[in-house]
Amino acid sequence: MTPRIVNDKTTGRPRVLATRRLPPDVEKSLAERFDAVLSRDDRPLGPDALQRALGEVDGMICTVSDQLTAEVLSTWPCRCRIIANFGVGVDHIDLVAARAHEIVITNTPGVLTDDTADLTMALLLATLRRTGEGERELRSGRWTGWRPTHLLGRRATGLTLGIVGLGRIGRAVARRAAFGFGMKVLGWSRTRPSDTELEADGIAWCDSLDQLLIEADAVTLHVPGGDETAGLIDHRRIALMPPGGFLINTARGSVIDTEALLAALSSGHLAGAGLDVHLHEPAIDRRLLGHERAVLLPHLGSATREGRDAMGFLNIESLDAYFRGDQPPHRVT
Ligand code: NAP
Repeated sequence: MTPRIVNDKTTGRPRVLATRRLPPDVEKSLAERFDAVLSRDDRPLGPDALQRALGEVDGMICTVSDQLTAEVLSTWPCRCRIIANFGVGVDHIDLVAARAHEIVITNTPGVLTDDTADLTMALLLATLRRTGEGERELRSGRWTGWRPTHLLGRRATGLTLGIVGLGRIGRAVARRAAFGFGMKVLGWSRTRPSDTELEADGIAWCDSLDQLLIEADAVTLHVPGGDETAGLIDHRRIALMPPGGFLINTARGSVIDTEALLAALSSGHLAGAGLDVHLHEPAIDRRLLGHERAVLLPHLGSATREGRDAMGFLNIESLDAYFRGDQPPHRVT
């Protein structure tokens, strides 16, 4: 990358790099507060560029497209003291290494919850109602007109939806599904929310993930990525789902075993999958592209103007607090 140095005078202000283009108001605010180094070409930084940056700036705003591995974070000398992640998921950052090198990591929880829950519902409905197939048919000139048996999907109302991970986004999805679409919502997570919380969100608690998979017509994933959840949804667990089930993922690609998913789509055991996140994104397994019943989105969960502005301003809030000498809000390490 060729960083665009907005203010290279020696102002005494902390130098902060944003690895990608940010919404205009966020970039403006960054440039007003810091010696901002903004991305010119909006390309992700490779390991060498990230290491160079860590040696040259006081703070950084990174995104899910930056792989902040243990090796990258071991840069020496490292001038960077705080990395504000533009997003809630931090599985692309080696948190153990960040702690070891005393680099503060912050994220942006909450402000993207509703947008990601909305996108989850959009994916679920698109998958149940086969809208991708319909649009491809129409655009390619293959539509021959209305007929009673054309592209039949499944009814959302009354469907049993299993939610894996009952944090902010999982519970926001539950409220939409239960109270907006009349679904029966089952939930499982590492920590059981209180009965009052479960009731308020319209969730019936399931004692085990396996039981949830057995009972749900459609399953949606809302756990973080990382080692603990890698391959959580594997061959054995997909086989527990009823034939003709649906799997939705707006969490992280690593949570699903890709081979298991492909096998279940090919055999018809899964009637559809809705995926916003992908194992080695932006690369997509070519075999997945060939599946008509896979609805594939390019990681759009938080992609609203409102959400992306709010994420950027939360990053700035964390950087401001840190450089003032206060405890930064939304601190992960
Ligand atoms: P959150 O509030 O922290 O919720 C995560 C939930 O997962 C918590 O209930 C947590 O349980 C549970 N959990 C954690 N590890 C688990 C494990 N090993 N097994 C079972 N449950 C586990 O996070 P959030 O704000 O809802 O976000 C969830 C994830 O969505 C993020 O980490 C990110 O990867 C993804 N995301 C994607 C997009 C997108 O654009 N598609 C946008 C935003 C977020 P505890 O209560 O025990 O911690």
